[in-house]
Amino acid sequence: MATRSEILAWCDDTLQTRLFKDYAPNGLQVEGTEHIAKIATAVTASRAAIEYAAEQGAQMLLVHHGMFWKSEPVTITGWKKERIAALLRHNINMAGYHLPLDAHPELGNNAQLAKLMGWETEYTCGEQNLLHIGRLKTPQTAAALAADLAQKLGREPVAAGDLSQTVSRIGWCTGGAQGFFQTALDEGAQVYVTGEISEAQYHLANETGAVFLSAGHHATERYGILALAQALQRRFNVETVFFDEQNPA
Ligand SMILES: [Zn+2]
Repeated sequence: MATRSEILAWCDDTLQTRLFKDYAPNGLQVEGTEHIAKIATAVTASRAAIEYAAEQGAQMLLVHHGMFWKSEPVTITGWKKERIAALLRHNINMAGYHLPLDAHPELGNNAQLAKLMGWETEYTCGEQNLLHIGRLKTPQTAAALAADLAQKLGREPVAAGDLSQTVSRIGWCTGGAQGFFQTALDEGAQVYVTGEISEAQYHLANETGAVFLSAGHHATERYGILALAQALQRRFNVETVFFDEQNPA
């Protein structure tokens, strides 16, 4: 049976964790039992995901969004106490991989979203190379692209800009990367896809003639952790199960 440290060392090495400056610790965040036969995966280490891991009898919960973000209070109270208490009660390891799991050229959220949507990455740029620039396989209207996203992700995107225009050059970054819109425009993107939208992007889309599609933070970030789970299954012969939740954001 695989050990916690073998699995984590493989993840760190594969995802090249040491190369990233991140907002939360990557790797093990809460320590549990040593031997791992079953891994539960989820986008976020929510209370519901922890309870699912316990019900499933998993020894590890592996997520994209762990805990201990820099913006968070450091005290272990309230909801955070409840999450940690549940992990400790069931002796479940909780490990998170954030930016390394966005960026990985094969297993990453950005690469996996492109694979799902049939987009081709030409290059990456911007902060820590997280912004992807590429082309649609065939040019289509932004409205058709939005419909394609809705169908494949199971969630209607929030759109800004003129959706009747035909687009081909695309920029994308999964999650809360609305701040990369300007960089995507500077790189010549006609349409930019990310997980969230803020007030300013509506105006930027209208005033530059580009299209902004907010396809959901959770919805755009399911696929990296699923790809990582598949890779772990192949490498360590562990069982993996995925917890999805209907997060509208
Ligand atoms: Zn995220």
